[in-house]
Amino acid sequence: MSNIVIIGNGVAGISAARWIRKLSDHSITVISSETDHFFSRTALMYIYMGHMRYEDTKPYEDWFWKKNRIDLVNDHVNGIGFESKQLTLRSGKTMGYDKLILALGSKSNMFGWPGQDLDGVGGLYSLQDLEQMEKFSPDLKRAVICGGGLIGIEMAEMFHSRHIPVTMLVREESYWSNVLPPEESQMITRHIKDNHIDLRLGVNLGEIKDDGTGKAKSVVVKETGEEIPCGYVGLTAGVSPNVGWLKESGLEIGRGIKVNKHLETNMPDVYAIGDCAEQTDVQPGRRAIEAIWYTGRMMGETVAYNAVGKKIAYDPGLWFNSAKFIDIEYQVYGELPATLPEHLKTIFWEHVDGDKSIRINYHVDDYTVKGFNLFGIRYRHEVCKKWILDKTHIEEVLQNLGLANFDPEFYEEFESNIIRVYNQKESKNIGLKTKRGLSKVFSFLNR
Ligand SMILES: Cc1cc2nc3c(=O)[nH]c(=O)nc-3n(C[C@H](O)[C@H](O)[C@H](O)COP(=O)(O)OP(=O)(O)OC[C@H]3O[C@@H](n4cnc5c(N)ncnc54)[C@H](O)[C@@H]3O)c2cc1C
Repeated sequence: MSNIVIIGNGVAGISAARWIRKLSDHSITVISSETDHFFSRTALMYIYMGHMRYEDTKPYEDWFWKKNRIDLVNDHVNGIGFESKQLTLRSGKTMGYDKLILALGSKSNMFGWPGQDLDGVGGLYSLQDLEQMEKFSPDLKRAVICGGGLIGIEMAEMFHSRHIPVTMLVREESYWSNVLPPEESQMITRHIKDNHIDLRLGVNLGEIKDDGTGKAKSVVVKETGEEIPCGYVGLTAGVSPNVGWLKESGLEIGRGIKVNKHLETNMPDVYAIGDCAEQTDVQPGRRAIEAIWYTGRMMGETVAYNAVGKKIAYDPGLWFNSAKFIDIEYQVYGELPATLPEHLKTIFWEHVDGDKSIRINYHVDDYTVKGFNLFGIRYRHEVCKKWILDKTHIEEVLQNLGLANFDPEFYEEFESNIIRVYNQKESKNIGLKTKRGLSKVFSFLNR
């Protein structure tokens, strides 16, 4: 029986632990210095907004770990001896391992801005970050958030939910324009402004000023020199793998910990997964580091097989992600880059209210469907996935688009609108054959 140690109790580390237990009787220890138990990082904002308590974000009851013989250790790993297979912990203890899984997650990017270490300045990544935001929220007159992207908008929504005025400094000319196609990026830009968030585009943080007591009192906009008074500064300019402390350890590190398709590092019996792992064998159209929840979960499962000796390759499957931009839900499946590459065509429909849209990408040559982008409308993951993986013709998809619709029964259906866009673009005259309905979905998926 092996002694398997996992550093990190996020979705990657915990998925690994659960799968190792399903597959074997090995001894499993999970070490983390953030919290005693696994919680859902994506739900952090809902704690602040009062929709959930911290307790509600824990996917498993506290008794689960003992019952499944997964030892949890709340400590920080300060050093790893890869030859001796020994970990040094902050508590002064040491711990040996036979196999080690690094699931260290990310940290908020800090680009050396003057004042970034002042009190009242923080990212949004850990539970401690949330506590920090909570501490500064009472009587807060304004928060300035530096950086767009998913975490920036979440932080803006959090303060906004408590009626705290928010200014957002975003480098791009339109919200998240490096990820979203222009129309969707502009839709969310408008939505942010409609929510009375003071969105400043095309600007960067210059410095954060000290009030003389070591606390932030304002930010200076780099381009204009404008000083914006504020009691809290949120730094949300992306995240990067939490690997700085391992740079001199002999572990091969690029931006993250380099892993092959079996999630093995260059050190014997050491694996890396989740946000901290950088794949060396990247599939076309995918990124070497995919810092999202589902990647952590899938890598956790794959690494478990490898750690118990059943060698399998990591398959990232179809790209998908989901999020919410204040009130607008977002789902993406497959190939949906911000700039349309030459091999793709696109059709896009947007509701006149500017809060719903459907985009479908398809191949220029064979017209097979390649990607879906949904805003304010929910589509079924399994249906979109099957169409893309089966290389289904765009017209077959459009005629049966109701199969994908996952909105509640009484919601309006907009599939005919996107078909109209296609007919116009391609000079065709196809119509919708299948409307929303669960029974048809089951037979389609089991076909
Ligand atoms: C606010 C927010 C919202 C998000 N929303 C979405 C979303 O909507 N959809 C989506 O797909 N993804 C989202 N993400 C990203 C997603 O949460 C992450 O990709 C995922 O949680 C990463 O999981 P992980 O297990 O790799 O790392 P983590 O969850 O970061 O876990 C790593 C753990 O290891 C601990 N650790 C690190 N080093 C040590 C050490 N030396 N000793 C002890 N412990 C250590 C850390 O403290 C941490 O607890 C969001 C992230 C944030 C911050």
